[in-house]
Amino acid sequence: MQHSKTTLAAVFFGLSVTLLSGCDILNNSAQPTPKPATEANQTPTVPPSSSQETPSSQTPAAPDAEQPSTTIEPTPATPQPSANEPKEVDGDPDSLSILVNKQYKLPDHFKPADLVDPNVPFIFKGKSEKRMMRKEAAEALEKMFAGAKKDGIQLAGVSAYRSEATQRVLFENYVKKDGEEAARKYSALPGTSEHETGLAIDVSGSTGACAAQDCFGDTKEAAWLAKHAAEYGFIIRYPEGKDSITGYQYEPWHLRYVGNQIAGEISGKNITLEEYLNAVPATASAN
Ligand SMILES: [Zn+2]
Repeated sequence: MQHSKTTLAAVFFGLSVTLLSGCDILNNSAQPTPKPATEANQTPTVPPSSSQETPSSQTPAAPDAEQPSTTIEPTPATPQPSANEPKEVDGDPDSLSILVNKQYKLPDHFKPADLVDPNVPFIFKGKSEKRMMRKEAAEALEKMFAGAKKDGIQLAGVSAYRSEATQRVLFENYVKKDGEEAARKYSALPGTSEHETGLAIDVSGSTGACAAQDCFGDTKEAAWLAKHAAEYGFIIRYPEGKDSITGYQYEPWHLRYVGNQIAGEISGKNITLEEYLNAVPATASAN
């Protein structure tokens, strides 16, 4: 299926140009108004005009055909993922190295099993699912914040776990506001946000200044993270200049836990998780 792969990559590549954020930072101002799930993403797609080798009824029967005209039965409408629909993740969604991006989505209703509330400051008060992370990632986060503090850097969490349900409400609100095509360009489809893995967190300085904004890249906190995050098993998931590979613009605040060994390798080689896993979109290298 080389053809559909290429199409997928092309769509992926096209999207990355206009993409704003992998963190859906606009969500702070969004007013989630839950409504019956309309399944915006499951809009029946017209299958590509059957270029398959479906025998046409006009095909002349072989002269010696023993069975005259075989009636062609219409192919049952099997749901086929269209070219721009993400495929389900390759591998165990609970794996620390799981790849979730615009091409690979988590299984429906996925919820990480071991979410805990890390003991670190966040820029907001009170309990929220946004504070949660997988246990191993949460413990590493606590160590990283403590390490930063020793260097005089005060970090704070902005947003960590996001449930599929929350992502769905966000996305559907964007669809209502701007239409599905536009929404897909700036918001992650439910199941494709890395925040749903429980392994990602947006981080800022303790004042929350420049939280999840481009100006965070110029802060001392961002500089510290770029230098030290890998020592604690985290990577800067969407590095500068790699948007054609990750599908996202540079996000110095978005950290992903992958464990010490993989983080060390990714950061040492200055590559992305996609490159580490050999899952770079085909078109990425062409540009
Ligand atoms: Zn993020």
